[in-house]
Amino acid sequence: METGETTRYRQLAKTWLTPSPNTVIIQPTTFCPMDCGYCYLPNRHRKKDMSASTAEAIVQGMADYWFTGKPVEVVWHGGEPLAVGVDKFEELLQPFEPLRAAGKIVQRVQTGAILITDAWCDLFKRYEIDVGVSIDGPEHTNRNRVDRGGRPTFDRAVKGIEKLKEHGLPFTTLAVVTIEGTTRAVETLDFFAELGCHWVGLNIEAKEAANVNGITPEIDQAQRFWRDAFEWAAEHPEVTIRDVDSLAKFLSYDADLRTVDGRHDLIPTISWDGKVVLLSPELLGVHDARHNDFVVGNVVDTPLSALLADVTTVPYVREFLDGLNACKQSCQFWNYCQGAHAGDRYFEHGSFAATETSHCQVAFQAPALALAELLREG
Ligand code: SF4
Repeated sequence: METGETTRYRQLAKTWLTPSPNTVIIQPTTFCPMDCGYCYLPNRHRKKDMSASTAEAIVQGMADYWFTGKPVEVVWHGGEPLAVGVDKFEELLQPFEPLRAAGKIVQRVQTGAILITDAWCDLFKRYEIDVGVSIDGPEHTNRNRVDRGGRPTFDRAVKGIEKLKEHGLPFTTLAVVTIEGTTRAVETLDFFAELGCHWVGLNIEAKEAANVNGITPEIDQAQRFWRDAFEWAAEHPEVTIRDVDSLAKFLSYDADLRTVDGRHDLIPTISWDGKVVLLSPELLGVHDARHNDFVVGNVVDTPLSALLADVTTVPYVREFLDGLNACKQSCQFWNYCQGAHAGDRYFEHGSFAATETSHCQVAFQAPALALAELLREG
């Protein structure tokens, strides 16, 4: 018989978790040729590649009911996904082809761009793969992006981006903003506009997984950064800034809609050998006394849909639901923020049930405060 506690968590899961994943993250290889100062991946020096049979098992484990709405996003993320090699990557794509042909999935790679060649561009075109590039802005803001010999990778990344442009491939960018970077919003965004990217995500540096010594800026530093970003965005409608856009969208809803609770995606992240972690890709490879390795199962033995069928039995998912509940009861930013990201609670406080983090301050509270300040000033 179901206990009261089980019923309670099932109810919370219905409110705050999507019934099926919108995004699935797949690690084609653990290896990354880069060694960025803030990287969260603990095993990026090892080269373990996914097998075709594991890719096949992922596809076989997806349930039909996942594909009744908009396409599920399949993100190939690493390590450096391109380190697996063009031929091997193409082999991994094959099981996904029927889903792509039927418009049931869209695919994306997130890459440091230093390995992009004509052959990769050709593959991205043939398989309609969107490309997201991780680059932090102009050369001096990329000091953390180095290879294993400590050499800067900026020139090689820009060369890779030029290749994409030669082939007429659009790309988005994801940038890490360090504490110094918070004073350089305009310079950073000008760089991305000149680079020709149409969408940019700005991640203010957080303490995560292997990046346990990450220094997150103070909320007032982040607020100044976002204020500059809002002013820049008003002058540059050709570039979408993720966080500016999401806040603008939120404000465009009518008042009733703004109070509706959003649902968190479980974001199943699948390791090279089929292990699945939930809620945060940064949990892959992390060990913890209470949650062990955060792995809820392996797609090689159990269909992915079965692993996601009742996640309220997973202790860290329960903790996260408690954290969301506590946020909703206590935080004035809840309607916009909806509890931010699970991983940051764990990496900052050791528990998913924690509420406020320095990440939620700089990534959710600070943009809202910056916009409120600008609106007050007229
Ligand atoms: S801003 Fe922080 S404390 Fe507030 S709802 Fe979001 S995560 Fe929770």
